[in-house]
Amino acid sequence: MAIRKRRKLSKKEAKAQKKSADFLANQNNKIEPQYTEVSKSAKKIVEIPETILVRELASKISVPVTTLIKVLMKNGVLKNINESLDWETAAIAGDELGFDVKLKTENEKVKTIQKEEKIDKKNLKTRPPIVTVMGHVDHGKTALLDAIRKTNVVSTESGGITQHIGAYQISFKNKKITFIDTPGHEAFEAMRAHGANITDIVVLVVAADDGIKPQTEEAYEHAKRAGVPIIVAINKIDLPAANIFKVKQQLCEMGLVPEDMGGKTITVSLSAKQNMHIDELLEMLLLVSEMKNFQATPSKPASAIVIESHLDAQLGPTAHILIQDGTLSEGDFVVVGDTWGRIRLMEDEMKKRLKQAGPSQPVKIAGIKKMPSYGEILQEVPDEKTCRKVLSDMKKVSKVISAEKSEGLKVLPLVLKSDVSGSLKAIKDSLKKLETDEVKIEIVREGTGDVTEDDIMMAKTSNARLLSFKTGVASNVKDIIEKEKISIAQYSVIYDLINDIAEIIRFLSRKEVEVKTGRAQVIKIFRSTKDEKIIGLKILSGEIESGERVLISHGDESMGEGKVVSLQIETKKVEKLKENQIGGIKLNTTAILQETDELIFYKKELK
Ligand code: GDP
Repeated sequence: MAIRKRRKLSKKEAKAQKKSADFLANQNNKIEPQYTEVSKSAKKIVEIPETILVRELASKISVPVTTLIKVLMKNGVLKNINESLDWETAAIAGDELGFDVKLKTENEKVKTIQKEEKIDKKNLKTRPPIVTVMGHVDHGKTALLDAIRKTNVVSTESGGITQHIGAYQISFKNKKITFIDTPGHEAFEAMRAHGANITDIVVLVVAADDGIKPQTEEAYEHAKRAGVPIIVAINKIDLPAANIFKVKQQLCEMGLVPEDMGGKTITVSLSAKQNMHIDELLEMLLLVSEMKNFQATPSKPASAIVIESHLDAQLGPTAHILIQDGTLSEGDFVVVGDTWGRIRLMEDEMKKRLKQAGPSQPVKIAGIKKMPSYGEILQEVPDEKTCRKVLSDMKKVSKVISAEKSEGLKVLPLVLKSDVSGSLKAIKDSLKKLETDEVKIEIVREGTGDVTEDDIMMAKTSNARLLSFKTGVASNVKDIIEKEKISIAQYSVIYDLINDIAEIIRFLSRKEVEVKTGRAQVIKIFRSTKDEKIIGLKILSGEIESGERVLISHGDESMGEGKVVSLQIETKKVEKLKENQIGGIKLNTTAILQETDELIFYKKELK
């Protein structure tokens, strides 16, 4: 089917369309939820058993295993890809990644563990908010960060010599606020890609003379996805061409309805260049932070995120980090990315030497062996031995992951023990037959007789599954199994062993495919902008959900594609629209739609 552009609308048609669009825009503002923040209840629920392998959890919540491992590390849990997690730990990690992890109990009762229950509440203390400034290029992000820094950086006796360390902290009304000093959404997303959602509040800068631009919308999308509260700074109000009202109208259209227009979005009109109303913005940041009550546990070992790193002529490799939780002290041992070290020196942005740094504080550190990369997580550990152990575990993880990444081929490492060599050969032959184009089996160790310490160590170092067929476990290794938390799958029937491995291979061989979910017909066009359409439709078959991809066709011709943003029935937002239902749908698409056009919906599934 050829894709063709829709014919231009006649003046009359265009007028009618605009009228209904305006009407709906009005309606829309009334009925659209405020996206300034994603509520907790919007989290996707996943149910898991009492224990789950790290790789299985990652797959269940569709995040890269490395991201999950880093989030676990940040919470002081050091696990490799094939180790199991108890569901409480899984719930904490899941929560950070935007999932509500629930326990699937035997009698199908679902019990929720709230992250809060796990943390010792007594030790939680309020911490300063961490703010990222985002917005379209040239709208004044850098100017705003400069204006805030100049007037409010925590002054020290060091004579005001500042150094750039990627973030800075100010003191305003005796309260601290941390600003990430790298504006732009690339930085924000890079952090998120590393599993670190460090921003508490986003300041979205919009120039009053230029209005909403593509990067403003993009920045808003990023913040919305991360579920971070947004404050809009309408900048450059000193310019004669400034039109604050117009910007606010555009914000409404985007779904960010300002407070003075009946919505919930805080806006501050200011001029970064003329230093006007900067305090007002800071007030609002403190207000949001008070409402949210951002907390951390200073008594915990520190975890931090790398925001920059440099090779210093005198100090050697240095990293600029932002403490996320706990307290870091001079002399502490840390693992960071694929390196480690002992903190030899800590400085703030005023070059003041610090003995300790707490939550939300940006600091420069020296004493690490190598320069870590941007976005890496730093974790305090008790001693050098632990540093080395964590790093060797991480290396193994990345080895397996890189094997998985090469040409999409996955490797399933196994340690195989059997009673006699005859059955060992039979098992190996059957296992070989299970291999697919996507998954290869690698028997890293095999033998007859009881499971020994060497078998366990091999399974541990190569992240392999340990399978034993009709053999026992040497009595001296029971403690090691417990200590190393290695599980042994014991079998007395070859068929069971092969079946289990076949199941794992099926799981690893799954591919993402697009499946058709439903078909609908356009019955009314309510609103149509370049990138977004709000339409009324009837579901002809199947059922559709938000996030799905949609193909639009007019008769036999394909008009393009789009993505479902939200669905509603009358004025109520709904999760799904089912067969024969009539509802409203918001689509991200540049295609021009007409009544009677057909829409076909698709979603991605692992199959
Ligand atoms: P960024 O790309 O968003 O970081 O934008 P910059 O901070 O580099 O600012 C872009 C341009 O706008 C620079 O020439 C600034 O001097 C100017 N600018 C920033 N804020 C203001 C303001 O409040 N008023 C005026 N008149 N110009 C501003």
